[in-house]
Amino acid sequence: MKFSWRVLVLWTLPALLVGFFFWQGAFSNGIGDMGQNTANSRMTYGRFLEYLDANRVTTVDFYEGGRTAIVEAVDPELDNRTQKVRVELPPNAPELIDKLKEKGVNFDAHPVRNDGAIWGLLGNLIFPVLLIAGLFFLFRRSSNLPGGPGQAMNFGKSKARFQMEAKTGVMFDDVAGIEEAKEELQEVVTFLKQPEKFTAVGARIPKGVLLVGPPGTGKTLLAKAIAGEAAVPFFSISGSEFVEMFVGVGASRVRDLFKKAKENAPCIIFIDEIDAVGRQRGAGIGGGNDEREQTLNQLLTEMDGFEGNTGIIIIAATNRPDVLDAALLRPGRFDRQVMVDAPDIKGRLEVLQVHARNKKLDPSVSLETIARRTPGFTGADLANLLNEAAILTARRRKEGITLTEIDDAVDRVVAGMEGTPLVDNKSKRLIAYHEIGHALVGTLLKDHDPVQKVTLVPRGQAQGLTWFTPNEEQGLTTRGQLKARITGALGGRAAEEVIFGDAEVTTGAGNDLQQVTGMARQMVTRFGMSELGPLSLESQSGEVFLGRDWMSRSDYSEAIASRIDSQVRTIVEECYDNAKRMMRENRSVMDRLVDLLVEKETIDGEEFRQIVAEYTPVPDKPQYTPIL
Ligand code: ADP
Ligand code: ZN
Repeated sequence: MKFSWRVLVLWTLPALLVGFFFWQGAFSNGIGDMGQNTANSRMTYGRFLEYLDANRVTTVDFYEGGRTAIVEAVDPELDNRTQKVRVELPPNAPELIDKLKEKGVNFDAHPVRNDGAIWGLLGNLIFPVLLIAGLFFLFRRSSNLPGGPGQAMNFGKSKARFQMEAKTGVMFDDVAGIEEAKEELQEVVTFLKQPEKFTAVGARIPKGVLLVGPPGTGKTLLAKAIAGEAAVPFFSISGSEFVEMFVGVGASRVRDLFKKAKENAPCIIFIDEIDAVGRQRGAGIGGGNDEREQTLNQLLTEMDGFEGNTGIIIIAATNRPDVLDAALLRPGRFDRQVMVDAPDIKGRLEVLQVHARNKKLDPSVSLETIARRTPGFTGADLANLLNEAAILTARRRKEGITLTEIDDAVDRVVAGMEGTPLVDNKSKRLIAYHEIGHALVGTLLKDHDPVQKVTLVPRGQAQGLTWFTPNEEQGLTTRGQLKARITGALGGRAAEEVIFGDAEVTTGAGNDLQQVTGMARQMVTRFGMSELGPLSLESQSGEVFLGRDWMSRSDYSEAIASRIDSQVRTIVEECYDNAKRMMRENRSVMDRLVDLLVEKETIDGEEFRQIVAEYTPVPDKPQYTPIL
């Protein structure tokens, strides 16, 4: 209670300060009318006159003694919506009034508010008074505390930022799809439950385990499951909680955390995002970061400070083990690393089974189908997916989740919210040709993943989408497949150009082209799939990362760089020509598919292939269980 008051005051003061300036700003405008604030856009006086002549102006309100006006006008470019704009008027425009009368426009003048001055004065007084009162309050409170006035500066220390769960209630059964990780961690449970088994033969119990993997793969869940299985308390904190503005706060949190943990041993300490504190010391732009280094040092000290047999095991999670300080990874610290990756198809099925336990699924739903449709999804994505589907089901007032909801939820998780479809017009047709272009290349090229569906229902940023079913069983990608993907991604632009001509191509292909360039470049620089030969010319992580060297060194000369560019170009051009040829040769089936797509909004893969097969041979592709 006593702390919360102090925090309240500390936070209220800056907030008041900010609020005060905004408030002052509002009055110094001299206009107290809210109408002013709603008109964010401006219009020139000339434009305003044009609008007036075109009878688009409906209302004019004058402010500031006739110096500005808020104009309501109908904008034909925005579906005739009315729009409020602000116009600065020239000092002498008496003819304007006549004109407004003549056009029958509503107009009104608003007086200048002069009570602003009084408010301004009051405002000026209020702030210092509040500040003094606040400081007074702060000092009084802190001197009331047993620790004396010095306590006022102690914030951070006493705030327990870590959470403790006496019982997590999570078991290994709740974690699915990451069997190897589970097996390795099974041992940790035994350490916690029967340490004597190990100490009797002189084995040193590990202190730290590092879980490495992308977000959402279940690292936190695993750590909780260990605590749950061993029936020990679970302490957790995120690495970012350690990193504070004040030097020393993070270190004191580490001390607090370990103190609490020792009192509750045996137990698990879980540190999420350990890379936030555990970066290499002295790295990054501008040298080291004192606070982080102190925190890290404290963490290392604490880890060394307790014997392996106290029964505390620290589990840390990160996605970037490569940036961690080497000292953290030494024996006696986080000497075990366990990879936790996004699950494969079988793993996804298991995760789905776990999360479907408490959901009402329609008997027609096969979890395997969902697993097949969701390559790259992490455990968290899958949990989210089933939840979204359940929400949709409730909204549609159905008894149980059907495949339709699952399908909509997948689309939503992958591509964003559904928008309203366009009405049938030229641009809709253009988008339809673009998508059919992608789908046609995908269908006709043997090496391309089969089409799952083509749709004109907008989602997220995309106006239309073509979905493919990736084949996950194969691990490696061949050169032919990469080229097919590039050609497929170019299919949209190729269709636009062949059907509508050079001048009509749109920006809609921007994203496609980005992917195309990325793939082509990788073929040249990473996979040795060009005339430059089997060389690796670029490091895997192209990004600048502050934890390591700032400048990444390229492994080749200027001359090679320009050859890389020309090879990338050659690949893309070849694929583009190929895509355009396919569009020209299949014009009649395209026209038919576009008509159908504009009418139905969505064509599924099977129907698409059947229609194409009426015109031209469609190569066989590996068969999957049909989806939907
Ligand atoms: P991370 O710590 O790796 O970012 P979390 O453990 O916080 O991921 O996962 C978030 C949620 O996603 C979990 O609470 C759980 O519901 C679900 N989840 C993630 N991975 C799995 C998995 N392997 N099995 C079951 N559920 C999972
Ligand atoms: Zn496209």
